[in-house]
Amino acid sequence: MKSLWNDQEAGEFQGDLALRVYTSRLLGRDTSLVLHGGGNTSVKLREKNILGNEEDLLYVKGSGWDLEKIEAAGFSPVRLQHLIALAGLPSLSDLQMVNELRTHMTNAAAPTPSVEAILHAILPYKFVDHTHADAVISVTNTRDGLQRIREIYSDRVVVIPYIMPGFDLARLCAQMFSAEATTNTVGMVLMNHGIFSFGDSARSSYERMIELVTLAEEYLDHQESWHIPLTNITTSESHLRTDIATLRLNASQAAGFPLLLTIHRDARCMSFIDRDDIEKISQQGPATPDHVIRTKRLPLIGRDIEPYTSAYKNYFSENVLTAKDKLSMLDPAPRIILDHELGLCTLGRTAKDAAIVADIYKHTIDIIQRSEMLDGYQALSAKDIFDVEYWELEQAKLRKSGKPPVYNGEVALVTGAASGIGKACVNALLARGAAVIGLDIQDTVIEMVNTPGFAGFKCDLTDEKQVVAALEQAVRKFGGVDMLILNAGMFPPSCNIESLTTADWRKVQNINIDSNLVMLRECFPMLKLSPNQARVVFVGSKNVAAPGPGAAAYSVSKAALNQLARVTALEWGKHGIRINTVHPDAVFDTGIWTEDVIESRAKSYGLSVAGYKKKNILQIQITSRDVAELVAELCGPLFAKTTGAHIPIDGGNDRVI
Ligand code: ZN
Repeated sequence: MKSLWNDQEAGEFQGDLALRVYTSRLLGRDTSLVLHGGGNTSVKLREKNILGNEEDLLYVKGSGWDLEKIEAAGFSPVRLQHLIALAGLPSLSDLQMVNELRTHMTNAAAPTPSVEAILHAILPYKFVDHTHADAVISVTNTRDGLQRIREIYSDRVVVIPYIMPGFDLARLCAQMFSAEATTNTVGMVLMNHGIFSFGDSARSSYERMIELVTLAEEYLDHQESWHIPLTNITTSESHLRTDIATLRLNASQAAGFPLLLTIHRDARCMSFIDRDDIEKISQQGPATPDHVIRTKRLPLIGRDIEPYTSAYKNYFSENVLTAKDKLSMLDPAPRIILDHELGLCTLGRTAKDAAIVADIYKHTIDIIQRSEMLDGYQALSAKDIFDVEYWELEQAKLRKSGKPPVYNGEVALVTGAASGIGKACVNALLARGAAVIGLDIQDTVIEMVNTPGFAGFKCDLTDEKQVVAALEQAVRKFGGVDMLILNAGMFPPSCNIESLTTADWRKVQNINIDSNLVMLRECFPMLKLSPNQARVVFVGSKNVAAPGPGAAAYSVSKAALNQLARVTALEWGKHGIRINTVHPDAVFDTGIWTEDVIESRAKSYGLSVAGYKKKNILQIQITSRDVAELVAELCGPLFAKTTGAHIPIDGGNDRVI
């Protein structure tokens, strides 16, 4: 591991706090040191308060900040003397501790200080860095971990036995550090948890961390426990989308709410899953308490969820669980599933949660395999895992988080997603917490939204092979399809019947009607497996009820689509799938309505452009967003008892009313 310190970069950070920001970001850049908000750093500064008196403050990482992207505002200033005094108390509950941290800050707008703040305070060094470095944990999480840590560092680090993060850990560290630290001490190792380094400057503390972690890496290398063998993976061409959607349904039912499921089949994951001893080595617990909070419990091996959830419930109700209210919070669904065919499956309430679980587990895979090569992986006990999972602070966070957005854990698929009404539907559904798959013939769909909850696939909907391939990929991303928004369509140039060629006619029918039959048919097995009962929304047109001259192909295709929606509602009602249609008109902010087209259409009616745009009973303009909001709401609880409905969104049309 190399120091990423760069004089030129560092030159842009002036002062101790700014340099604290800089080296914290350097730690955050290396995912084998810290992952997703794991790890924390601090600096001790003397500042004048409003009365002109000097005070010693601990600026410590605030919760909710990632080291990689931290700013000065991400550090919370806490009165140092108070923190040191707290470490002398015989006991302090977690909630009391958080109260003390928050009430002794000197900036009311700062985030809640890290729960490891007292630990930073008691270390008598200006800069303190703390990581959950993979290499150190690979050594501590073995049978003879303690002895091996001593072998690597001799008296350069103080070693603390495993104890759950919080006040008791800080108190124990304070006692052991003052008893055991010598002039040689440059760090502190917390068994099954991580490592601390410290120094007089931001650079020395950071580079000490790199040096200490490098020693652990070199030790693993010398013990031939560093390089993890990878097997060749075979790319799976098989159709797995029904299998994946079934697994997601079962996990969602066990959790009691819909979960997203993401598949990972890279060489690192598959080599691990294909090990002969996978059943043994994967069942020994997460590597650090930090990982427990994110990945919850042990992985499920294979797809049989029922025995897993009942074993989990039984274990905790018989052996560990005491308070009844804890039982009510028990959600026994796995967050990680290891399957020889599917690969590493990670589950989460949001795509971001599922991605965090995957990142953490991929590091766990490295840690477990290196520990195995060294001396046999040995993780936290089941009791320790439970204690972290049901930690007072984690429970308080859960209680505070309130009601999740309406579509959390659900997947919407939007066709024609790259522009106009489709693009607006993507945004409306993302805003309501859904994960969204966008299909479009334009490749701009791939990168149209940069968020873990969106996946775009380029796909010609008139090519059945491409549709099936896109669905296979999409289901590997989020685990299924719960809401299908059939929006893609075309509006050809005006053409009277006597001049309409068969080829032009077929082209319109192909995309506007035939492709929707294919989508419905191919999505049906997944819609049937939706944890919350699926919904389909058709984007129809005013033309169904009020066709226009010169638009035969379009009007006929939309009329046919209308009948398709009706028959689908009749056939799929028994599966609880709701089918509803919106009929927009004159949505001018879409691709087909260029300024020129609007101007010429306005002229032909003898109207101004502004007048033409409001040519409806309410005299209002209809936007893509208006249509998308209606589409998104049609999938929600307000319309839970509605199917087969046709709803105009056109400002009122005298030919339709
Ligand atoms: Zn920690």
